[in-house]
Amino acid sequence: MDLRLDPAEGAVEPGAPLAPLTTWRIGGPARYLCRVRTGAALARVLGAASRESLPIALLGMGSNVLVADEGFPGCVLRLEGEFLDVRVEGERVLAGGGAPLGGVCAAAARAGLSGLEAITGIPSSIGGAVRINAGAYGGEIFDVLESVRLVARDGAAREAAASELPHGYRWTRLVETREIVAAAVLRLRPAGREEIAEKTRSVADRRRGALPSEPNAGSVFKNPEGDFAGRLIEACGLKGERRGGALVSPRHANVIVNTGGARASEVLALMRVMRDAVRGRFGVTLMPEVELLGMRWE
Ligand SMILES: Cc1cc2nc3c(=O)[nH]c(=O)nc-3n(C[C@H](O)[C@H](O)[C@H](O)COP(=O)(O)OP(=O)(O)OC[C@H]3O[C@@H](n4cnc5c(N)ncnc54)[C@H](O)[C@@H]3O)c2cc1C
Repeated sequence: MDLRLDPAEGAVEPGAPLAPLTTWRIGGPARYLCRVRTGAALARVLGAASRESLPIALLGMGSNVLVADEGFPGCVLRLEGEFLDVRVEGERVLAGGGAPLGGVCAAAARAGLSGLEAITGIPSSIGGAVRINAGAYGGEIFDVLESVRLVARDGAAREAAASELPHGYRWTRLVETREIVAAAVLRLRPAGREEIAEKTRSVADRRRGALPSEPNAGSVFKNPEGDFAGRLIEACGLKGERRGGALVSPRHANVIVNTGGARASEVLALMRVMRDAVRGRFGVTLMPEVELLGMRWE
C-alpha cells in the first residue's frame, strides 16, 4: 500500500496476523492492518485503499467476526487514538467509534448515569455495537443512542440522529451502507450510583453463568422471530458436535468454541451443519449473527 503514516497518525502493518485481534483467536493475516489515530489518517487510508482498489474491512474488538484461514486480502482498519476518547458532558456520553463499550459503561456509572447496565459486559467497541444494535437482557444500544458521526467508504463524513437510522434486532441500515461509526453520543439519565452498580452486578452474574470460557464469538446465529437459535440447535442434539478444533459448546448450543487450533473452515462447516439440521427439523433458516471476513456464507 503506497501510504506512509506519521506514528502520531497511525501505522500500516503489512501481513499482520488477525487471529490475536479476535475473541475466537482464529484466522489468517490482513494484507494490510491500518491502525488510524486521527480523522485525517482515516481519510488518507480510505483514499489510498480506493486508489489501489483494495477491499476494506473494519475491526473493533473482534468479538463478532470469523476471519478466513487465508486472511483478508485488503486493508483492515482499526480505530485508535482519538477514536478511543470517552467524555461525559452532563447527561451525555461522547465516545469515539473504537472506544470499548466496557469503558463507556464504567464512565457512565462513575458519573451517576443510567441506561447502559443491560449491555454492560458485551465485549464490543462503540462502533461495532452501534452497527449491529448490540443488546442483551432487554436493552440495546439504540435505547440510549442520540446521534452518530459516520464516515462513508469514500471518506465523506456526516452526522446522523439515531432516529434517522433504520434499525431493528441486531441490525441497522449501517450493515448495508457500510459507513464507519467514527463517534457516538449516548443520552443517559441520572440515577443513584448504588442502583446502577446493583443492576450492573446482576447482569454480570447472569452473563457469567451463560457463556463458555473458551475463546468464542458469542451467539453465532441470530434468534429467529419468537424463538431462540440455541433452543432449536440443542433440540437437534448438536451440543458437543465437533469439526476439528471447533465445538458446539455443551454449555450454550448457539456458541461455537475454539478448543485449540480451530480453523475458520471448521467453524463454517459446523455452522452449516447447525443451519441444515434446524432447517430440516423445524423449517427455520438460521441467519448468522457473526460477520465473515474474507469468506462468504452462501
Ligand atoms: C463472549 C461474548 C458475548 C457476547 N454477547 C453479546 C450480547 O449479549 N449481545 C450482542 O449483541 N452481542 C454479543 N456478542 C457479540 C459482539 O460482542 C457484538 O456483536 C459486538 O457489538 C461486536 O463489536 P466489535 O467491536 O467486537 O466488532 P467486531 O467483531 O470487530 O466487528 C463486527 C462487525 O462490526 C463492524 N465494525 C466494527 N467497528 C465498526 C465501526 N466503528 N463502524 C462500523 N462498523 C464497525 C466490523 O467491520 C464487522 O463487520 C458477544 C460476543 C462474545 C465474544
